[in-house]
Amino acid sequence: LLEDKDFVSPTRVRLEGRRLRHVQEVHRAAVGDDLVVGRLGGNLGRGRVLALDDALELEVTLDQAPPPKLPLTLVLALPRPKVLNRVLAAAASLGVARIHLVNAWKVEKSYWKSPRMAEENLLLQRVLGLEQARDTVLPSLELHRLLRPFAEEVLPSLAAGTTALVAHPGVPVPCPRDLTGPVTLAIGPEGGFLPQEVELLGRAGLTPVNLGSRILRVETAVAALVGRLF
Ligand code: SAM
Repeated sequence: LLEDKDFVSPTRVRLEGRRLRHVQEVHRAAVGDDLVVGRLGGNLGRGRVLALDDALELEVTLDQAPPPKLPLTLVLALPRPKVLNRVLAAAASLGVARIHLVNAWKVEKSYWKSPRMAEENLLLQRVLGLEQARDTVLPSLELHRLLRPFAEEVLPSLAAGTTALVAHPGVPVPCPRDLTGPVTLAIGPEGGFLPQEVELLGRAGLTPVNLGSRILRVETAVAALVGRLF
């Protein structure tokens, strides 16, 4: 995935670091090969390898629109840093349109201070997901360090006019097998939402649903829920 700073002219890019290594080690490309490339936030197309040593130089043609996003807003209680990376990349590769990372009682305070919360890392994880999926458009990402004001002031307008659900084990209503957009989905932290938090989300318009009798890890619950939109 190419960023504006990679372009040395409108059709020529020069890459070093992560993407150079990826092309050398994963694609094992050679001069003259064509690679699938895309411009962050723009079109997809192909890049012909012009040089490949200390840097990768490509002649690019970007003429295809990226795939559409899923009409889905994911509200996710901040998981532990290692899991956060995987969930962000997975959500981006699945085509989630919007992600809100929120606090909850069982989210450890230290998670908010993790180096993985640095803006560059949050961007990198989503870019890795997009590259996997041949997409170029980032899911938007917002952080809400307090659950109550988010649930009272922001969530009601996100949920309005959407199928709005909060996944919570043990509640009587099963999650529908198929979901058609627009959808708002909330997923709890590793220790789950408190009953009071589920009520708070319920007052914002979200219906508590179960995903069956198995308790799933956060990243598995995200995949199981997002999969219902495919
Ligand atoms: N002990 C926690 C509890 O009982 O809530 C388990 C939390 S689970 C590891 C993490 C999150 O994934 C939950 O807060 C929920 O949003 C979602 N989840 C996992 N399994 C689920 C299930 N069977 N039904 C509904 N939600 C589930």
